[in-house]
Amino acid sequence: MEKKTLAYWQDKAATLSIEGRAFIDGAYRDAYSGRTFDCVSPIDARVLASVADCGAADVDAAVAAARRAFDAQVWAGLNPRARKSVLLRWAALMREHLDELALLETLDAGKPIGDTTTVDVPGAAYCVQWFAEAIDKIGGEVAPADHHLVGLVTREPIGVVAAVVPWNFPILMASWKFGPALAAGNSVVLKPSEKSPLTAIRVAQLAHEAGIPAGVFNVLPGGGEPGKLLALHRDVDCLAFTGSTGVGKQIMQYAGQSNLKRVWLELGGKSPNIVLPDCPDLDRAANAAASAIFYNMGEMCTAGSRLLVHRDIKDVFLAKLVEAARQYVPGNPLDPKTSMGAIVDKIQLERVLSYIEAGRKEAKLLLGGDRVNESSGGFYLQPTVFDTHHDSKIAREEIFGPVLSVITFSTIDEAVRIANDTDYGLAAAVWTANLTHAHDIARRLRAGTVWVNCYDEGGDMNFPFGGFKESGNGRDKSLHALEKYTELKSTLVRLR
Ligand code: NAD
Repeated sequence: MEKKTLAYWQDKAATLSIEGRAFIDGAYRDAYSGRTFDCVSPIDARVLASVADCGAADVDAAVAAARRAFDAQVWAGLNPRARKSVLLRWAALMREHLDELALLETLDAGKPIGDTTTVDVPGAAYCVQWFAEAIDKIGGEVAPADHHLVGLVTREPIGVVAAVVPWNFPILMASWKFGPALAAGNSVVLKPSEKSPLTAIRVAQLAHEAGIPAGVFNVLPGGGEPGKLLALHRDVDCLAFTGSTGVGKQIMQYAGQSNLKRVWLELGGKSPNIVLPDCPDLDRAANAAASAIFYNMGEMCTAGSRLLVHRDIKDVFLAKLVEAARQYVPGNPLDPKTSMGAIVDKIQLERVLSYIEAGRKEAKLLLGGDRVNESSGGFYLQPTVFDTHHDSKIAREEIFGPVLSVITFSTIDEAVRIANDTDYGLAAAVWTANLTHAHDIARRLRAGTVWVNCYDEGGDMNFPFGGFKESGNGRDKSLHALEKYTELKSTLVRLR
């Protein structure tokens, strides 16, 4: 088998043909306006492709195609077993095209190729497979009712689902929407981020090849405008969004201004990672704390961006943490040995650097803090650690980059109070050998996912994923996700 070295990926990148058009009603098309935008690689600022910049006419065309397909029941009307086999074919095609899709993702978003080949693309294929496998095993209910009645409670597809997604896990986050939405029988219009549209565009062709009928799966590249137009569209029944809390709030308003479409939001986070003095394994905790914030360049909604360390173990733990952080060395994402890739674009790089500047003024810098590899033309940042206090700007706001705020506490109550003193509530973790403390603290933490003696575990689809408070509503993953893409119906049949 050919060894996949940096040279292998560079050769492959040099000959890769990249599709940049929208996918509407079963075919690639330019934007109606003819407008395009440059898709730039954060690896070296090279222009990868010219991508359709979709606007109102494209949104209308995609939604109309999705509606036509839904009304004609070409997908929703199939036996779930038939939908399952098409979706399984699609998942298999994603796996067959693993190298190509992973390479597109790495070039487009700056993620290490070692991750896109093992996490992003396999994860998206697995998500489609998981929901495909579920749909012919779940049914409705026969509800207790008067003897002269038969009462059915069923779930029906909601209709046209628009999915608006971010750039940090472009195809994976998209699959968490289109997997369950398509499995449930809906038509989908996917709007990828303008910073990372390429894998979404490519998988649309694979969906078509797998047998997903025209109009059932559409992809509209572009920026905020097509996202907003989808959220305002009266013929979109549901809008599933992953992105920032600010845009999530706007999307709820757009739904209120239009047709009260169902809105499901997966938003930001500022997740606390609490280390108690009786932590069972400080080395493992230090490695996990580093991975929690430096994996994927810190561009993680669940990033463990607030490390809460007990005063008694602070010095020893921080020494281990800084050691662990040094293993994240920014490098060429096409090199399989690279542990840390590029920040997604110049705008995000500058945003993170401005937080680092704020940190330098209000906190003590323990590690990193600088842009590196600038001669490559790309956007690379060192893993950065600040010793700070709970009220500092860097400890309160979501940075979405490799910047860790360390906060010291003295009691469990203080740790829980600090952990919960945030508008977010996506994830949290606690490290302790004490079973009572573990359960008690896990229960008191206001977050959609709580890890005990680990961080970021649970890669399979069985666990619902989403936030409390301003981290959103609804849940991706697990059978609960199907509920978001269905309407509940009661049917009462009078027998006599
Ligand atoms: P973003 O909110 O800027 O953009 C997300 C998507 O919304 C993009 O496709 C963008 O083009 C679109 N958009 C922008 N303005 C819009 C508008 N006015 N109306 C409709 N759509 C609009 O977020 P981002 O920078 O792409 O992603 C980072 C954010 O995503 C972070 O806050 C992160 O925490 C969050 N995130 C959350 C989860 C989760 O599951 N909770 C997962 C990944 C990322």
